Amino acid sequence: MKRKEMIMKAPTGSHLLDRREFIATAVAGATVLAGTVAGFSHLARAQATAPAEAPPFKLPELPYPETGLEPYISSRTLSFHHGKHHQAYVDNTNRLVKGTDLAGLPIEEVVKRSSGLKDKSIFNNSAQAWNHAFYWKCMKPKGGGLPAGKLSESLSSAFGSYEGFKEAFSRAAATQFGSGWAWLVLDGNSFKVMNTANADTPLAEGKKPLLTIDVWEHAYYLDYQNRRADYIKAFLDQMVNWDFVSENLSKG
Ligand code: MN
Repeated sequence: MKRKEMIMKAPTGSHLLDRREFIATAVAGATVLAGTVAGFSHLARAQATAPAEAPPFKLPELPYPETGLEPYISSRTLSFHHGKHHQAYVDNTNRLVKGTDLAGLPIEEVVKRSSGLKDKSIFNNSAQAWNHAFYWKCMKPKGGGLPAGKLSESLSSAFGSYEGFKEAFSRAAATQFGSGWAWLVLDGNSFKVMNTANADTPLAEGKKPLLTIDVWEHAYYLDYQNRRADYIKAFLDQMVNWDFVSENLSKG
């Protein structure tokens, strides 16, 4: 019935532009109709079957200016790390998911669903895109120091004291061999410190990430060269954003 009505509304004797407009309208309203319009079936079919183009992932803006973490992380490091490395992970993810059944999914879903694939390229790039977006928010200008309130109590209860947490987190970051990340996560109801290699992320393991530090050399080499321990100390003492950790904790 609907189809008949729409056909009856088709402009008669009109020129090509009108017919195209009609087809576009028909596709939007009832995709089955478009393929039946005599004389324009090839055009209509293409419009009816082409999947909607998923909007590409975008590089998220830094939550502070590139100079915002100086002198602990230089604007030079942030401009390369965010503008080149993170951008490349986002661009690669867009290129790799295009035309696959992962296209159009949120980045978290792309990470989770690609983690078991034999070809690791989608996982590596999407996980790095996600990890970096999360990492920027784990720091803030004039951050660092002790967490407040409930979070402080939780860390003390899980690690004996804030110092106990700091020691466990620093050790996980310092001992990650080669490239990777150290994390504070919620695993079920337990707070845990862990590290992951390369692009690996607790997100793909069903754990809830609360805090991370990037210990790939590109994160600190321009500012600290081989002194990873100094970068880890500056991260915890001067930059860590406990408000963001608390927010993550309170999210369902
Ligand atoms: Mn990085």
